[in-house]
Amino acid sequence: MAGKINSLQLDLNLTMFSSQTCPVCESTQSKSLFSVADGKLVQCIECKLVFYTPLPSSAELAAFYDAESYRQNYHHSPLAGMQMAKIRYQQLKSYFRQRTSHDLGLSPQLRYLDVGCGEGDLLKVLAAEGWDTLGTEISAKAVAQAGEGWRDRIQVGDINSVDFPSAYFDLITMYHVIEHLLDPVDALSRVYNWLKPGGILFIETPNWGGLGARLRGRSWSLIIPPEHLTYFQKSSLSYALSRAGYGDFQVFSSTPQVLESLDRFPIGVRQFIAIAYRLAPYMGLGANLQALAFRDH
Ligand SMILES: [Zn+2]
Repeated sequence: MAGKINSLQLDLNLTMFSSQTCPVCESTQSKSLFSVADGKLVQCIECKLVFYTPLPSSAELAAFYDAESYRQNYHHSPLAGMQMAKIRYQQLKSYFRQRTSHDLGLSPQLRYLDVGCGEGDLLKVLAAEGWDTLGTEISAKAVAQAGEGWRDRIQVGDINSVDFPSAYFDLITMYHVIEHLLDPVDALSRVYNWLKPGGILFIETPNWGGLGARLRGRSWSLIIPPEHLTYFQKSSLSYALSRAGYGDFQVFSSTPQVLESLDRFPIGVRQFIAIAYRLAPYMGLGANLQALAFRDH
């Protein structure tokens, strides 16, 4: 019995130690920012990644995403259920069409993978281009909702357990997904292997270095562990891509998506804030970070 307790204590100690290890650069040097949920946010001294500790297990995450409460929230989130999401998916479709055919001269019959595709909303929009579309998703319940003809195009599991042939896809997206992952560098390197030479990875994730995050601090609405486990800024996302093997990539910040939020400011300062919002992306202060990364030829 005593041996069992000691072994349990050892496991606990190891968990506490590893939970402080930066998921991107593996440094154990971090500073505490503030308490949130049942843990805290810390910032890595080396790569500046902000992350939640203690990190949950993969099984705990799968249970979290299958829970009815999460599924309900998802349907009402700006990323899935609202009109804004549908508009954004159409914008992405035009953007990918331009990047792949015009800029890169890739075949119009693309092979496309959406990592963390949920119920397949973005997959369905891009399939209208005639592309061969596949997805991965941790939540079996989300996949069950994807509909006839789609369920068998989505592999269920976290990104470390799904598998595809090497050099298979022309385009892979991780749209508001990387911040949910336990091991983002491992995920990025798996994706690198699945891309064809010259193939494109597109990432979008909330910008910890953005104006909204800076102004709102701990009240920033996107601080939502255990859903968001990592919080990237330009330097940490660039570092993660390098570590995963990408030699050719760009990281930039997007325009703020919600100009309607200006309504809450007094009329006298709205114009000033509107200008600041429009300038923000050019100063790396946009609401989201985006990355385009390429597998080497
Ligand atoms: Zn780090």
